[in-house]
Amino acid sequence: MTFQPTHPIPYGRQNITDHDIQAITETLRSDFLTQGPKVAEFEEKFAAYIGARYAVAVSNGTAALHLCTLALGVQPGQRVITTPITFAASANCVLYCGGEVHFADIDPTTALIDLRQVRALLEAHPKGYFHGLIPVDFAGLPVDLAAARQLADEFGLWIIEDACHAPGGFFTDPTGQDQRCGNGQFADLAIFSFHPVKHIATGEGGMITTNNPELYEKLLLLRTHGITKSPALMHKNDGGWYMEMQLLGYNYRMPDILTALGISQLQRADAGLARRRELAARYDAAFAARPAIRALATAPGHAYHLYVIQVPDRKGLYDFLRERQVLAQVHYIPVHTMPYYQELGWHAGDFPHAEQYYAHCLSIPLFPTLTDEEQQYVIDCILEFVV
Ligand SMILES: *Cc1c(COP(=O)(O)O)cnc(C)c1O
Repeated sequence: MTFQPTHPIPYGRQNITDHDIQAITETLRSDFLTQGPKVAEFEEKFAAYIGARYAVAVSNGTAALHLCTLALGVQPGQRVITTPITFAASANCVLYCGGEVHFADIDPTTALIDLRQVRALLEAHPKGYFHGLIPVDFAGLPVDLAAARQLADEFGLWIIEDACHAPGGFFTDPTGQDQRCGNGQFADLAIFSFHPVKHIATGEGGMITTNNPELYEKLLLLRTHGITKSPALMHKNDGGWYMEMQLLGYNYRMPDILTALGISQLQRADAGLARRRELAARYDAAFAARPAIRALATAPGHAYHLYVIQVPDRKGLYDFLRERQVLAQVHYIPVHTMPYYQELGWHAGDFPHAEQYYAHCLSIPLFPTLTDEEQQYVIDCILEFVV
């Protein structure tokens, strides 16, 4: 092994170019720091990229989830199903509205929510017992939303697709059409995050996409305190200054400074995605002959936010890599095993596939600026430890 890293190699990393920096500085010199023309431009371009009718830029992915549960009218006591293998926010957004989170176990081959388990859960209760489903395109592997929609329609559920890991990803529907994650064909609402480790990085930022005009109008209101300045929507009009607060909303705006960065980043989204897929294919090939290293299922539309391997001694490998400057990470500690969720009544042992997955999983470095040399170093380290 000749290559030695001069700095730690993280599992994910943003890529900021001179063009990005120029986009921000131009906005700083403009008239708008927040809610100016860059917000609308980013929303329009993002919607076009995803193939959805509407996009609403918000402060972060968690705010996006919260606005979705608000717009769908989640009420205290309403029950919503999600996956235990996700970031806590996918579940927390239900609690923000006083709802109840339920989980369905994952399919161990994909680490995605297992729709057969969802069906079993739905069938074990009377119709109307559950109100919504929040599937997550975990690691960038798209959920089969056509199947999820069928199930949701059968049991009267809404769907929020947590597509934070999968901008640019797609699945193929039963008619043979490729369907982009978040395009609003199947889910009522979809959400994205622009946290630095995600495909498009703005520091903080998020987006909601939908094809539903009523939900879109509601999201716009909820994003800015429930206040409208649009005369067409107001009950009366006292003059040019007049505005109306019609709902209890929040300040979940994404500023112009950051949407300008998002627009610039979006221009490189396809190139970044192509590089992620290339790196993933190299990992697949490198580990194929080592049965002790198990990769998750792949698919042509995989967006590869994460590259996850499962190994017998995960903690050993994590520590071994750290000593060699490779900062792998674990995604995720199952949500239902978090102390907060245990207080709500969930127990270790409730979702054995998720817990088994957690015991062995490790996300290894995957981001567009990871060099071939760095990747080879990561591969060599892993193959040295996992024999
Ligand atoms: C990042 C992420 C979120 C939350 O996004 P933030 O912008 O960090 O609030 C939600 N769900 C998933 C699956 C994520 O990866």
